[in-house]
Amino acid sequence: MSQYNPFETAQAQFDKVAEMLNLAVATRKLLRNTAREFHFNIPVAMDNGEVDVFRGFRVLHNDARGPGKGGIRFHPQETIDTVRALAMWMTWKCAVVDIPLGGGKGGVICDPHNLSPREQERLCRGWVRQMAKHVGPLSDVPAPDVMTSAQHMLWMLDEYETIHGAKYPGFITGKPIGMGGSLGRTEATGYGVVFVIREALKDMDIRPEDTTASVQGFGNVAQYAIQLYTQMGGKVIAVSCWDQPDSKAYTYKKNEGVNLDELLPITDHFGSINKDKARELGYEQLPAEAWIEQDVDILIPAALENEINQESIQKVKPRVKIIAEGANGPTTIEADEIIQKQGIFMIPDFLANAGGVTCSYFEQVQSNMNYYWEKDDVLGRLDNKMTSAFIAVYDLAKKKKLYMRDAAYVIAIDRVASACKNRGWV
Ligand code: NAD
Repeated sequence: MSQYNPFETAQAQFDKVAEMLNLAVATRKLLRNTAREFHFNIPVAMDNGEVDVFRGFRVLHNDARGPGKGGIRFHPQETIDTVRALAMWMTWKCAVVDIPLGGGKGGVICDPHNLSPREQERLCRGWVRQMAKHVGPLSDVPAPDVMTSAQHMLWMLDEYETIHGAKYPGFITGKPIGMGGSLGRTEATGYGVVFVIREALKDMDIRPEDTTASVQGFGNVAQYAIQLYTQMGGKVIAVSCWDQPDSKAYTYKKNEGVNLDELLPITDHFGSINKDKARELGYEQLPAEAWIEQDVDILIPAALENEINQESIQKVKPRVKIIAEGANGPTTIEADEIIQKQGIFMIPDFLANAGGVTCSYFEQVQSNMNYYWEKDDVLGRLDNKMTSAFIAVYDLAKKKKLYMRDAAYVIAIDRVASACKNRGWV
């Protein structure tokens, strides 16, 4: 079993920049730990008449800049330290794109593949029943994450509104369109990743149509990143995903380029491609780690944490110029040092994948106004936010000769530390 602890990674990243910023001891103490945590049981009546009990979490890392914000992940390997790390990264993410929100995260240890829709609904409602007093539009706003969907969010909203006896569409984001959701939210994270890749390529004077990419994951983030990148002329030659029947991941490769139109119809709601049908369509089926070994210009990890580590980084080909972290925490501290030494252009997670939370923020604004914007309006605003955040980080990195991740942290931590100080917390 892996010893990797994402919260230790998040804390180590923070400590490095806290030192650079010479942060006061109390500020470090405040920001390297979570503000509050909930661990709870969720009893669920199963379809077979028995009751199963699932473990749920909600963590708020910091809310100095605004209400907590962060997804709820359903995953069999969910741990409290993963939730803590993700909550902390949410704080930095909201700060780096300068939206008035703090960082939170939630989760349930479960595999929704093994739950019927009714069981999933009861689990969602059960999570809200445990947390209803501690989350809300003005305190902590949940959203979807790995293996949770718009439908899960709507069940959660319905339970929250039933408990509170009024309509609170701003309680949760990632809702279905027409039920308080924002146009563009589904695309937002993947598109955001590509907006910042576009900016990085511009600076390198490389045309997107002259580049290739390999992507880990084939869920929400990966699919929309592939869509926009392909529209810009880029070619994705490999994707990887989890295969439920085999309980392991595979990479699917096609040299002429991955075609979303043929892959999406053979992919389930959880982003698992049907391997037999993929083979029939001419995709080469390779081991899970093959995505990172491809001779491409851009790597986009868009699955889980800890995937670019001391071992896998050795397999990265010299041609790779950009790593754009669609996933949260895909790179370990050791691998990050190697990437920095090799001079690969790193677009760190909390900048690269901030499109989701930025659009969630737009969704909340629209929900609270009960007035909804056109899709082009949402995506245009998203592009502006992502592009200006990228430029601010890149300018600082160039000016101070900083690694991109460190530059992003400097901006984010400085904003959050100032908010804590200005509120009189430290
Ligand atoms: P998702 O559940 O839609 O997709 C996850 C994908 O990863 C699936 O294709 C799954 O098969 C694949 N996967 C799982 N284990 C794998 C493995 N071991 N190897 C290869 N593939 C594997 O999730 P998502 O929403 O696309 O999120 C992906 C990552 O992006 C997560 O780290 C998440 O925290 C992060 N993220 C998501 C959003 C968002 O808006 N969805 C926003 C910011 C960050």
